[in-house]
Amino acid sequence: MSSRTGRKRLQARKPFGESGPLVSRIGQGTWPVPDPGALRHGIELGLTHIDTAEMYGDGKSEEFVGKAIRGIARDSLFLVSKVLPQNAHTRGVADACDRSLRRLGTEYLDCYLLHWRGNVPIGETMAALEKLVDSGKARSIGVSNLDPWDLREAAGTLNTHKIACDQVLYNLDERTIEDHELPWVHEYGCALVAYTPLGQPVLDPDGKKFAVVAGIARKYGVTPHAVVLSYLTRDPSVFAIPKASRLPHVDANAAALTLDLSESDVAAISAAHPNRERVGPLPTN
Ligand code: NAP
Repeated sequence: MSSRTGRKRLQARKPFGESGPLVSRIGQGTWPVPDPGALRHGIELGLTHIDTAEMYGDGKSEEFVGKAIRGIARDSLFLVSKVLPQNAHTRGVADACDRSLRRLGTEYLDCYLLHWRGNVPIGETMAALEKLVDSGKARSIGVSNLDPWDLREAAGTLNTHKIACDQVLYNLDERTIEDHELPWVHEYGCALVAYTPLGQPVLDPDGKKFAVVAGIARKYGVTPHAVVLSYLTRDPSVFAIPKASRLPHVDANAAALTLDLSESDVAAISAAHPNRERVGPLPTN
């Protein structure tokens, strides 16, 4: 298949880690709560990778996701939720997962993540997550906001399952994961999921700062946001989960599913938004 510019199109789905299922490279975030109509529209366009968490809207986000996915074939979706660090102990993980499943109206999560590292020993959390995979309530185990040291420690405590993903902050202003978490992800063989991919504040397509991105967007007849999402997911291991409550935004993000940037586009964006040296811990906002 080729785009209107004659370039080849990317596959909208790719393996989630070395041996994981095919998952849409662009998904949908749901913080603090999603608009069920927008979410459903996105699913219809192929944005079937849905990210939520027990924290978001105090459970409301999961309820709204549950509403949006009602009647949709469960195996066409990749549903992700997260347990809060204060619930990440043996009993707490099991109870939190049950609550999330109830709110979502589903029998299993495709990936269940530790939202960030708190005071519970990471081995206890990983053991509880492994039990959930064994029981069928989660298909895989993930983490979020872990740097390579934490990732190594968490992975070292697992017995029968592997970490499927690390979900981290990644956008044009924050590319330091490329030198830190991404090399670990490559070596280990899991996925990296980019949150807040459109930046904080959200990129201003008319701003001077984004002139290069805007120029590339014009060339392909898409929005600058789609160009950014395609750029961030150029690595085979990387997925992005933008959150959009407006239908035109959902349409724009879905255009990134198959948008294949050229090497010179990628080089131009990298030069206009250079990676910096990381100072301090893994950034989270
Ligand atoms: P984001 O997705 O980068 O940005 C969301 C904002 O971008 C919204 O204001 C949205 O507007 C706007 N937007 C979306 N698509 C657009 C488009 N095509 N054109 C113009 N504006 C567009 O940031 P985020 O919500 O912080 O991150 C995404 C998801 O990552 C969250 O929803 C959540 O699921 C996850 N997350 C995880 C963590 C973690 O610790 N693991 C932390 C933060 C976020 P409208 O809503 O008005 O459409």
